[in-house]
Amino acid sequence: MKQSIWNDLGVTTSLLGFGCMRFPVNAEGKIDEAQASAMLEAARAAGVNYFDTAWPYHGGDSERFLGRFLQRWPRDSYYLATKMPGFGDMTLEKAKETFAEQCRRLQTDHFDFYLMHAMSRQRYQLFKEQGILDWCAQLKAEGRIRYLGFSFHDDYEVFEQILNDRPWDFCQIQYNYMDTDTQAGDKGYALAEARGIPVIVMEPVKGGTLAALPDQAAAPLRALRPDASLASWALRWVGSHANVKMILSGMSSMEQVRDNLATFARFEPLSDTEQAALAKTKAILLSRVRNGCTACRYCMPCPAGVDIPGSFSVWNSFGMYQDAAGARRRWAAMDESKKPLNCVKCGKCESVCPQQLPIRTHLAQVQAELDAL
Ligand code: SF4
Ligand code: SF4
Repeated sequence: MKQSIWNDLGVTTSLLGFGCMRFPVNAEGKIDEAQASAMLEAARAAGVNYFDTAWPYHGGDSERFLGRFLQRWPRDSYYLATKMPGFGDMTLEKAKETFAEQCRRLQTDHFDFYLMHAMSRQRYQLFKEQGILDWCAQLKAEGRIRYLGFSFHDDYEVFEQILNDRPWDFCQIQYNYMDTDTQAGDKGYALAEARGIPVIVMEPVKGGTLAALPDQAAAPLRALRPDASLASWALRWVGSHANVKMILSGMSSMEQVRDNLATFARFEPLSDTEQAALAKTKAILLSRVRNGCTACRYCMPCPAGVDIPGSFSVWNSFGMYQDAAGARRRWAAMDESKKPLNCVKCGKCESVCPQQLPIRTHLAQVQAELDAL
């Protein structure tokens, strides 16, 4: 397992971290704990020692399940990360209750890595005004938090402001070979590197989008490495950045776990030839993707019942693959009550979308285009 040395923090972790936001689920939509346990065990056996969860993942069950599961391993044999939720009405009192509940859920008295979750301009301002950041710094001084950082979804200018505002131990950004000019992007990565602040990367495979490419887009990659998975290319692109100390993959199946473990067991940075091939793939994809929805589900639930990420998933797949028959099947299988035509245009979803998508406009396009198939 490729190891990662965190500069001044003095910790060494696996470069691959287990993201606990997309565990497999059963027919009731609950975490399939038997499968998830087997996946976590396989990752640990191969050397993964970083586990990342958050308050809202799986409706709170990710923290609860992980807390029960981790009791089987010595507490000092892994690094545990979770996050202070970025609710729009967060107060210091609520933050204190939340932290206490997270300790109960995860059955621990401290967190190794603790993040202010999904910071944007408004949320960061709120956290500052409420004194939540100062209180978390106090928790760090008391040893309840070992390393304090933030995860980020807003424009580069906001990232720069937040990064420069406090002595952060690390930051966490969305970064992959398609998202170099959105959110923190290349500029944000470079700034963190120049400041010596370690970077954790989330969405390295763009919510799974980069793991299944159309033949035309995959061709430059397959010509060089016929047997390599497309996900491995995306992970190797991220891991080729020296200041990326942690790559989080939200694994949903044992197959994904095994593929990721193989990538990091014999990790190779991309060569110049491979970088050029990936640039070709990117150009082809950019001409096909309809929008940049990562299926993060921050916009859900929609008060009108619209399945926003589900609708965009069908639309984006159709855009990339032009597979009319497949798109027709998926569209027909979607419950009418979840389709975009039910949108009442309240705008709630757009106010929380980390990708800042014009969701209402795009939903209208989805409905019209897929109905016409
Ligand atoms: S704008 Fe439409 S899709 Fe978005 S939350 Fe409101 S009803 Fe749902
Ligand atoms: S529309 Fe935005 S908030 Fe909703 S799932 Fe997609 S990226 Fe996330």
